[in-house]
Amino acid sequence: MYDIVADCSDNVPTCYLINDACVLSGKCLVSASALRMEGQLTVYNYRGGPCYRCLYPKPPLPEKVTNCSDGGVLGVVPGIMGCCFKALEVLKIASGQDSSCGQQLLMFDAQDAKFRSIRLRTKQASCAVWRENPHCHTLSGL
Ligand SMILES: [Zn+2]
Repeated sequence: MYDIVADCSDNVPTCYLINDACVLSGKCLVSASALRMEGQLTVYNYRGGPCYRCLYPKPPLPEKVTNCSDGGVLGVVPGIMGCCFKALEVLKIASGQDSSCGQQLLMFDAQDAKFRSIRLRTKQASCAVWRENPHCHTLSGL
């Protein structure tokens, strides 16, 4: 009964779970992350764009993931990425405006106070969640 999902989790397995639920239910996923002095933001499964698994097909080994508890994070960075930019994208989508992050990754370097963005690869036919649920191709979010 929701149109937009905002991922506010702090671990990789939950990101995959939320991604898959969004693809299966045809919802877009606004996701931000932060670690140390860096943050990232993108909108998955939005207007034919890629989902999380399209970009990261295989979950990393748990011992290869640095979480905020071990790596640290400056509290203002998730504040900027979550409370500001993620909320902004949710409001833009909810109000019928286009998201700026549907097929790009916004990266924030708090140390140098710089933003940059990179274009993401397109939705992948080899993506496990799409491949196993072809009926979801037509339900690609708003
Ligand atoms: Zn995918």
